[in-house]
Amino acid sequence: MNVAFKQPIETTRKLDSIAEALLLPSGIDGVYARTASFERVIDGLTDLIAQYREPNTEVLRFPPVMSRRQVEKSGYLNSFPHFLGCVSCLSGSEAEIHSAVDCHEAGEDWTPSLSAADLVLSPAACYPVYPLVASRGQMPADGLLFDVACDCFRREPSKMLDRLQSFRMREYVRVGTPRQIDEFRRRWMKLAEGFAARLGLSWRIDHASDPFFGRGGKLMAVSQVEQALKFELLIPVHSTEQPTACMSFNYHRDHFGTTWNIRTATGEIAHTGCVAFGLDRLALALFASHGLDFAAWPATARKALSL
Ligand code: AMP
Ligand code: ZN
Repeated sequence: MNVAFKQPIETTRKLDSIAEALLLPSGIDGVYARTASFERVIDGLTDLIAQYREPNTEVLRFPPVMSRRQVEKSGYLNSFPHFLGCVSCLSGSEAEIHSAVDCHEAGEDWTPSLSAADLVLSPAACYPVYPLVASRGQMPADGLLFDVACDCFRREPSKMLDRLQSFRMREYVRVGTPRQIDEFRRRWMKLAEGFAARLGLSWRIDHASDPFFGRGGKLMAVSQVEQALKFELLIPVHSTEQPTACMSFNYHRDHFGTTWNIRTATGEIAHTGCVAFGLDRLALALFASHGLDFAAWPATARKALSL
């Protein structure tokens, strides 16, 4: 597609120069404390996205951790092993745990005593939805619609403020027939245009692929683009040449349906799709486009975000 940006903006402010008013360093790349200003915008976005919620949508808020078994079964470990964060804890007898702590006290590395727990850090907000749907049995004819969110973790440390290790994702998730998913995704790609316009953002939507791991992953990415399974809403944050993906529109076909044996009302394997909002990236895009002074933001954006 690669179309020109809509509503071109004159300049994007240098993010680095406004960063300290938004995100405070923690000593770890991609992990920040968020200021009140930043959170005001996140809250505004959260409420604004809820305005787009359709009737009969089930709202679920997930914790930042989820079942390791479910993530393994979903295929995440095969596709994105480099991103996954697994919770590991000290377990065993009191003596064993003491000896690990003693190691640390003695200035030695205590981490070899850790063992993997049955939890991983959630890599995306929609993963816990599919096993949940499967556990409920057959679906209604209209399929299902969810509004989900969680703090996500991806091991991609970077100095870039828009590439975080810990970030917040909100998603609308659709489960149903291929046609229902197609309609859902098309509708959302249209709605996203209005969403970006209300926020006074410059944007374009383009084909995209996920950063699959390794050499085999390159082929998967090519196939994903060829089959038009992923689109992204791109907004200039650092530059127009390398815009930032702030939303994605995904069609998983029967991947999760087959994995979890999710059936439609007529007994076919269900298809799934999701539209994901990267809340932190959207907030950064707003600050990069409009600056730090809310009073100087476009009236439509202030209204949309109740600022
Ligand atoms: P994805 O599942 O990769 O399509 O991610 C959904 C959305 O989450 C993206 O469109 C981004 O807005 C956001 N996102 C993904 N990775 C990161 C990251 N490392 N830092 C901040 N936001 C991210
Ligand atoms: Zn998703």
